[in-house]
Amino acid sequence: MTRQAIVAANWKMNGDSALVDNIVSGLANVKLSSHVDVVICPSFAYLSELNQKIKAAKLNEAIHVGSQNLSEHESGAFTGEISTAMLQDLAINYVIVGHSERRSIYKETSLQVAKKVNAALDAGLTPILCIGESEVERVTGETEAVLSAQIQPVIDEVGIDKFIDVVIAYEPVWAIGTGKTASSAMAQETHKFIRQFLAQQSELVSDKVPLLYGGSVNAANCEELFAQTDIDGGLIGGASLKAEQFKIICSAAKGK
Ligand code: PEP
Repeated sequence: MTRQAIVAANWKMNGDSALVDNIVSGLANVKLSSHVDVVICPSFAYLSELNQKIKAAKLNEAIHVGSQNLSEHESGAFTGEISTAMLQDLAINYVIVGHSERRSIYKETSLQVAKKVNAALDAGLTPILCIGESEVERVTGETEAVLSAQIQPVIDEVGIDKFIDVVIAYEPVWAIGTGKTASSAMAQETHKFIRQFLAQQSELVSDKVPLLYGGSVNAANCEELFAQTDIDGGLIGGASLKAEQFKIICSAAKGK
């Protein structure tokens, strides 16, 4: 079985229609290996436009649009939120859940993140579950405990069988948007821990779930990171806003 590789772009609260056009034309002749999916996650405002323009430009069918967030609630009085039904309506099939900015700025708890992952799976959306330790947690040797405490509530909520459809993005918080990348050896060691953690509960899930690395990935470091045994692609912030860089990163990913 070949495990799918994924390169996901997180535009955060950046971008506009000009960026949509720029990325769509920049990816027009991108060379992707087989078993690679590309997922571009703009702000809610551009989900539809990006999706339509990707289709109109007849880009590679492995290029998808994803949301940066979703509500764990079905519908109702939740101002500013977006539901799974709305994402389905827009033909969106991926969603980032539990990004460290959602956890730290908007105080999303691991339980809430678990409910969001469950809502996504129930709606047939693929959740990209973000986990990662802070710099202090890394220095004090708590990385593995922190990652376990972020993954386990999700497994408890959705059940290990459904977890097979989850994608995990390991993003050390100290490497996001800072220009500090984990060394490929450090990233591999942590990905290996995550895979072993999953294997304790299901070998099948451990073999199948793509593990993405995120944190200052760019065109210069992506090849070495993606070559690591347990790294199946990346979640890319800043470099995903530059079509030329993002194209190089997409081409570096390979299924394993
Ligand atoms: C991110 O936003 O998830 C991220 C990894 O950002 P950057 O690539 O800019 O560090």
